[in-house]
Amino acid sequence: MKALYPGSFDPMTNGHLDIIERTSQLFDEVVIAIMDNPNKKNWFTPKERMEMMLPHLPHNVTIQIFPLQLTVDVAKKVEADVLIRGLRNSEDFLFEQNMAIINQEQTGIETLFLMSCPQYMAYSSSRIKELVYYHGQYQPYVKPNIYRALKEKEKQIYEDKK
Ligand code: ADP
Repeated sequence: MKALYPGSFDPMTNGHLDIIERTSQLFDEVVIAIMDNPNKKNWFTPKERMEMMLPHLPHNVTIQIFPLQLTVDVAKKVEADVLIRGLRNSEDFLFEQNMAIINQEQTGIETLFLMSCPQYMAYSSSRIKELVYYHGQYQPYVKPNIYRALKEKEKQIYEDKK
């Protein structure tokens, strides 16, 4: 069985990685889809995001970049059997439930939700970017290569604020 894990991953946090690792143990193959949404103010290009993630992926996980489109259409293209989403809290749940229902209704594809581990529940790419922006502590939340890329962004932001 093949699973599709779509998202922005701008950048990947240790919470995303935990979902990737756990999904890789449940499925023969996992495809991560980086959705390239030009309307979103992302910090990293899709290619940069992909390159930051590559060193951490289990052997049965691949990664591809897709221009923004319906997730179910990406699932069809990669021939995925199931969609994967991570759930941190009730806010995530409320956001995800309608999407999962409509996706199932229209195409038959099921969404499998993995609960975030308690230690990763508070992690989000946007919270980490906020910490970067205001010179907070974010090292524990990302892998070292991603931390280094964020440090560079922090320096750039500092220069721009001058
Ligand atoms: P999107 O822009 O689609 O929300 P994200 O990159 O923010 O993409 O997240 C992709 C998926 O990973 C979503 O299902 C999100 O709920 C999940 N996710 C994000 N952070 C965590 C975390 N810390 N623990 C578990 N799941 C997470």
